[in-house]
Amino acid sequence: MSDASRVLIAGGGPVGLVAAYALVQEGIPVIVFDENDELQEDPRAATTHPATLELLAKLGIVEQVTEQGLVCPIFRFWDRPTGEMVAEFDHGLLKDDTDFPHVVQCEQFKLTRILTELMTDIEIADIRFSHRVTGVSAGEDSVTVSVATPEGEQSFTGTYLIGSDGGRSTVRKAMDISFEGFTWPERFLVLSTPFDFEAERGMCYRNYIADPEEWCNCFKVAGDGPPGLWRTVYPEDPEAPEEKLLDDAYVEQKLQSFFPSDQPYDIVHRNLYTVHQRVAATFRMGRVLIAGDAAHVNNSIGGMGLNGGIQDSMNLAEKLVKVWKGEADEELLDVYDAERRTFAVEFVQEQTIQNKKRLEAKNPQSRAAFLKNLKETASDPGRSRQFMLKSSMIEAMRNIGKSTP
Ligand SMILES: Cc1cc2nc3c(=O)[nH]c(=O)nc-3n(C[C@H](O)[C@H](O)[C@H](O)COP(=O)(O)OP(=O)(O)OC[C@H]3O[C@@H](n4cnc5c(N)ncnc54)[C@H](O)[C@@H]3O)c2cc1C
Repeated sequence: MSDASRVLIAGGGPVGLVAAYALVQEGIPVIVFDENDELQEDPRAATTHPATLELLAKLGIVEQVTEQGLVCPIFRFWDRPTGEMVAEFDHGLLKDDTDFPHVVQCEQFKLTRILTELMTDIEIADIRFSHRVTGVSAGEDSVTVSVATPEGEQSFTGTYLIGSDGGRSTVRKAMDISFEGFTWPERFLVLSTPFDFEAERGMCYRNYIADPEEWCNCFKVAGDGPPGLWRTVYPEDPEAPEEKLLDDAYVEQKLQSFFPSDQPYDIVHRNLYTVHQRVAATFRMGRVLIAGDAAHVNNSIGGMGLNGGIQDSMNLAEKLVKVWKGEADEELLDVYDAERRTFAVEFVQEQTIQNKKRLEAKNPQSRAAFLKNLKETASDPGRSRQFMLKSSMIEAMRNIGKSTP
């Protein structure tokens, strides 16, 4: 087998590593490049929906992810102006729809750690940190990337390239694939604290708090073990300087204004990020495929970004394996583009934009209608199940392929 008979993967985040592990399990050699010198532990995605848990089960890692995370069967909606808990949804109603009638809150850095550890002893899995992909040259039969390494600039050739190098993807830009959509004016502020919102405020592990002025999401993650950490997310004024929004006094006041306490908060992470809704014009250009944030980005309300990315990786790996083994023509890779791009545009973008608009609705009539509808949905098991088939991404995943050629 020639050295070039391998799949190059730009980006060793969760999406790149899921693709890598799915491919090496089928005997396909991979080389993963990541620009960081080690795995990152930044507080980003944690919500792993039932549809994704099904895929992680196929990959053989759902037990580890579940053990290192928190099992959350329920989620709640609250109305901030009245303080009322408006609706509670229990994934238990999905027990006949999936083997995983719950969400697992497992931080994405744990997923990447599980995957890199599993690949440590796999000879055909070559994971290289401090390797930044700087350029792509795609030919008829192979693809070559230039990579900035600690030893200087080097070239690597493979049969295919997966660009899973995040929202600012070098691969997407090198292939001149446009990233269509928009950027929200407000940024999202994420604050993490060990304060126990369950004991002190009656929260469950996943909460969405609607407010016409300032909504909030409040989640629990396992962190390094009990008592765990709570993450709260808020929209922030686009004009305010970053230093102010991350300042001690400001973040303390932010938590106090939502959840008054006679003690100051212990704030262990603070993070401000820009929020986009964008989808790449294509997920395939010849031998180059893009997945995860490189292919689509969305706001985090509903926790669908990484879920969609893992689903891309599994969909793509399954097709690449068939093409690699000669069981299917390369055109099958166009089906990856058709299926996953449709999913991103018609489901994830639509759903996440709607999630945000509902939480922040200002018009009193539409607010009241939203809250009333939520209440009625939650109190009717049939409607509640339908609602969760959507929110858990099961329905959209089961529908894949039905509307694409
Ligand atoms: C605060 C926050 C909360 C979120 N919560 C959720 C949630 O609950 N559920 C959910 O589904 N999603 C959530 N998301 C979104 C989620 O974090 C992303 O969708 C996810 O990280 C995408 O994974 P990825 O592997 O595609 O990209 P990334 O995680 O960005 O990984 C890309 C990797 O590529 C590397 N890289 C970049 N450029 C290069 C290069 N040129 N060469 C080599 N390596 C490169 C980077 O170092 C990085 O390791 C959240 C995001 C944020 C910011």
